[in-house]
Amino acid sequence: MIVDVHAHCWPRPDCFSPAFQADARRMRLGPVDLVTRPDDYWNATGGEDVVSIVFGGKARLSGVWIDDQDVADQVARDPSRTIGFMSLDPTRPGWQDEMRDGRERLGLKGIKLLPMYAGFYPQDERLAPLWRYAAEHGLPVLLHTGTTFVSVAPIDCTLPRHLDAVAIKHPDVKIILAHLGHPYEGETVAVIRKHPNLFADVSALFYRPWQLFHSLMLVHEYNVWDKILFGTDFPVTTVAETVAGLRSLVEVRIDRFSLPAEQIERLIYRDALALLGLEHPATTAKGGRA
Ligand SMILES: [Zn+2]
Repeated sequence: MIVDVHAHCWPRPDCFSPAFQADARRMRLGPVDLVTRPDDYWNATGGEDVVSIVFGGKARLSGVWIDDQDVADQVARDPSRTIGFMSLDPTRPGWQDEMRDGRERLGLKGIKLLPMYAGFYPQDERLAPLWRYAAEHGLPVLLHTGTTFVSVAPIDCTLPRHLDAVAIKHPDVKIILAHLGHPYEGETVAVIRKHPNLFADVSALFYRPWQLFHSLMLVHEYNVWDKILFGTDFPVTTVAETVAGLRSLVEVRIDRFSLPAEQIERLIYRDALALLGLEHPATTAKGGRA
């Protein structure tokens, strides 16, 4: 089984402002279609048994808004292999109501945050109710960490070091730093090593193989492989191309340095559900295999 901890539900082009869509041309070398189609996701798994954690995103500052109902609807299409996370923009009024509604009514199992895109710091005291709620209800929190193509989003809000302060205060919350915090991977390795419940995902990185090779060498030298989770950032990449991209790194040799193939395989098949305290969705879905 592959657990993809990072896939998007972007149901309509108007989830993004025109300015965001213009900036998004900087994302990859070619254009990226900002509308997700679940069939495209499931047709690109390379035949692997996949569980997908899916979320939308909320960041008014950057012109991103996907209602959590859209995420719940997508989970309902494929409940035995999809887990939905809610999104919150804590700079907007009503976010605490959305947080309770997302768990209680929509059945969402975790929280996605976009600190840089929305313009807040994750360790801001105003977010204390969010971290307490996540701890109380066992909701993992995945944050975008690392740079962006969006001009108005302040990079300082995204630095992985801020999660150190969060984890010191809220050590029980399972936290995932997305994209290894690129290109601040050194900070990511530093914080995930010192906190048992901090993890990082490798989504949307393989297409910069020079950078990812060096990042995973840092992971290797600091011995934090067990904290690294598989992710795609679909529609930015797919499961099949991420698996292939990760495996291709094993062929890289720089002087006497290389990545251990067995650690790459363990990363691809890591049981993130167990690490994050999430049940396999088939055990709870109606008509699922349990
Ligand atoms: Zn993403």
